[in-house]
Amino acid sequence: MRGIDVGEVLLLHTQERSVLVDLPAWARLAGHELLSVADRGNGAGPWRLAILRGHRRDHGAGTQSHEDSFTTGSAVPVGSRLWLYSNFHCNLACDYCCAGSSPKADPRMLPQDIAAAAVDEFVAQGGRELLITGGEPFLHPELGAMVSYAAERVPVVILTNAMVFGRGARRTTLEAMDRQRVTLQVSLDSAGPGIHDRQRGAGSHARALAGIGLARELGFRLRVAATLHDEDLSSVSRLHAALDNLGVASEDRLIRPVAEEGFADHGLHISLDTVEPEPTLTVDGIWWHPVAVTNPHLRVAHSPLPLASAFEVIRDVLAVQAAGVTEGRQVFRCT
Ligand code: SF4
Repeated sequence: MRGIDVGEVLLLHTQERSVLVDLPAWARLAGHELLSVADRGNGAGPWRLAILRGHRRDHGAGTQSHEDSFTTGSAVPVGSRLWLYSNFHCNLACDYCCAGSSPKADPRMLPQDIAAAAVDEFVAQGGRELLITGGEPFLHPELGAMVSYAAERVPVVILTNAMVFGRGARRTTLEAMDRQRVTLQVSLDSAGPGIHDRQRGAGSHARALAGIGLARELGFRLRVAATLHDEDLSSVSRLHAALDNLGVASEDRLIRPVAEEGFADHGLHISLDTVEPEPTLTVDGIWWHPVAVTNPHLRVAHSPLPLASAFEVIRDVLAVQAAGVTEGRQVFRCT
């Protein structure tokens, strides 16, 4: 499949009946779509199968293309970037939340001592950037200590909805953070409340803007990330105009697709074959990518530490995938 582009179709001819069972299962796992299976009309082979790289819904007519709107980037070496899920509960319950977070979610809080041990191991192995996400990280009572320890060793980005740090102890936590070492990434899905409030809850757009204003006032570097379905991509130009007005630099903007994970019932299919790894630590394991921490197929380890063995597993998977591309695969039949 790597020999064709996303949206193109591979035709496969086979005499092997087992392919009719194995290939649909593989396509589901790998994030491709089996379009058709045809035989000579007698139920016997040979069979012709058509497989689309990606999914039809990701290439629908009348929508703006991914290439035009979604932010792209290069894969980073395994071990250079680490994601920490500080917790899974959240003041919001966005309809696309890949983590399934909400006020009722099990908090699954990452203890500070495990976070610190992970940072130490990460930095010792040459780690360059730490990203803290959730849930809403500012709901974690130890976030200040976690960020302070980490930021002395590696630059930190905190992903937040910017709605809960305006007052009280969380405001104190925010104000104590190092402006040179800590960046805030705030979610803002649209220029006005329309799409944002539809996806994230009534009133959330206004409160996110207030949080963005406070963070800027306090001198933080601010990134803004929008999460959109294909059908809403036409709103992106208005969002960029609004971000121009807010003074958010173009390199600090991210437009990403909804991933078909957590609460999202449609969106980009995530699999080992379709997304580059970005190792992600939670209190109960290590995962291939931060958008897939509710997906058992994307779990790399059942414990958050040590990092080194999980990094090795991920590197091994990448090596096997690369070998499959360059050398092809053999059929090894046992029955
Ligand atoms: S997407 Fe972010 S803000 Fe929304 S429920 Fe999930 S963690 Fe909370």
